[in-house]
Amino acid sequence: MKKSRLFILALDGTPFTLLQRLFREGVMPNLKKLAEGAVFKQMDSVQPPVSSSAWASFMTGKTPAQHGILGFVDRTPADMNWYVPNADHLRAKTIWEILSEQGKRVFVMNVPVTFPPKPINGISICGFLGNDIRKGTWPPEIGTLLKARGYRIDADTELAKTNLSAFMEHLFTVLEKRFETMRSFYAQEHWDVFMTHIMETDRLHHFFWEYFEQGHTAYKARFLDLYRRIDWEIGRILAESGEDSAFLLLSDHGFCTLHYAVYLNRWLADNGYLFFKSNPPSDLHNIAPHSRAYSLYPGRIYLNLKGRERDGSVEQGLPYEQLRTELAQRLKTFLDPAGRPVVKQILRREEVYPEASAAEAAMLPDLIAIPHKGYDLKGDLWHASLIDKTVFNGMHTEDDAFVLAKDILIPEGRFSIDTLFKAVEGFFD
Ligand SMILES: [Zn+2]
Repeated sequence: MKKSRLFILALDGTPFTLLQRLFREGVMPNLKKLAEGAVFKQMDSVQPPVSSSAWASFMTGKTPAQHGILGFVDRTPADMNWYVPNADHLRAKTIWEILSEQGKRVFVMNVPVTFPPKPINGISICGFLGNDIRKGTWPPEIGTLLKARGYRIDADTELAKTNLSAFMEHLFTVLEKRFETMRSFYAQEHWDVFMTHIMETDRLHHFFWEYFEQGHTAYKARFLDLYRRIDWEIGRILAESGEDSAFLLLSDHGFCTLHYAVYLNRWLADNGYLFFKSNPPSDLHNIAPHSRAYSLYPGRIYLNLKGRERDGSVEQGLPYEQLRTELAQRLKTFLDPAGRPVVKQILRREEVYPEASAAEAAMLPDLIAIPHKGYDLKGDLWHASLIDKTVFNGMHTEDDAFVLAKDILIPEGRFSIDTLFKAVEGFFD
C-alpha cells in the first residue's frame, strides 16, 4: 500500500560505517530493525562536503555550483566583501516551497540553510547558521515561544574549547530539547511531510571522534549513550506512527579522525603567492593587489584574477592556466611535520563543477584542494603557524554518508545527497 505521509530524520554527519558498527554492537536496535526492512546504504556528500552545501543540495536537488552555497563563508569578487551564505542566497526553490505550492502540509525543523525562514504551508524552524530563533521561524510567533522554552538552534561550541566534559553533557540537554519540541509538533500538527534535523551528532563527532575511535573510557561511553538516546527516540516514533507513514533517514557526510588543521593561506603567503597590505589582515580587503591567490574554507583556492577580483592582477588566459598548474604541482609536494603528504588531489573548477554556467563559475574556486584523511584545510586569512592541532578531532568525509528508505523509492546504485530531492518530490506525485 502506498503511504501518504513522509517522516524524515536527519542525523548530521553520521557515517554509514559507524551505523553498521553500532548495529553490530547492539547500540541501536530500533534503527537496526528498521534498516533490515528497508533500503539502507552508503551515500556520497557533495563537494565541498560541508553541512550548508550538502543540505542545500538535499533541499533543492542542485549541486553547490548551481544553488550557490559553497561553505560557511563566501566572497563577492567585485568588492571582495565576505558574507555568510544563507537561505536568501539559495538560487533554487526548496522542496518545502514546492510541496507547499502543491497544497501539502510541511513541518521542517533545524535543517541548515533555512534561515531566514520562508513562508510555507506549515511550520519552519531554522537550523545551523541561523543566529536568533526569535527571527528564525515560520510562522514568526513560534520563535518567541521556542525561545521561552529554552530551545536552541545549535549547541554552544565555545564551551567545548574551555570545558570538554561539560560540553558533552550540554549536547544531551540540547538534544533533549530538540526531541521534546519535535514530539510536541508531531502530536499536535497535521502534516504530510515532517522533517527533523539533529545537529548534535555532528557536534559530537567534531569534538569526540578521536576519543571514540581510541576507546577513551568516559567519552566513548557517552558517545554511545547519545546514539542510544537517538535510537530510543526512533523506537518511539516508529511505535507511534500510523500505517500511513513512510520513512527517510539520512546524513549529509561522513566523519574521520582529524590529526591536523592546515592553514592554506599561510602556505600561500610563505610561498610567495599571497601578500597583505597590513599584518595581521582583518579581511579580504587587506589582500595586496600583487597577490596571486587566496583561499576560503575548505580548500577553495581563488586566483587574484584581473577583471573578476576587485584588485585582480593575474592575467586571464595562459598566465591563469600556468598559475593553476604551478599551484597544483607545488601543493602536491606539501608535507606535514612527519613527512606525509597533506593534499591528496588538486582539481580544477571545471572538473568538479562541469555543470556550472559562466555566471555561476565566477563565484566558484579556481582550484579545489582535496586533503588526505586527517587534514582539514582551513581558510583563516592569517594564522601563526602553518599546521597545528586544535580542540577539533573529527572532520568531514565526502564518501560515507548514509540513507535509509522505507516505503519511499530511491534510485539504485551509488548516488549523492542531491538525488534525494527527486525521491521526496516523487513520493508526493
Ligand atoms: Zn553536516
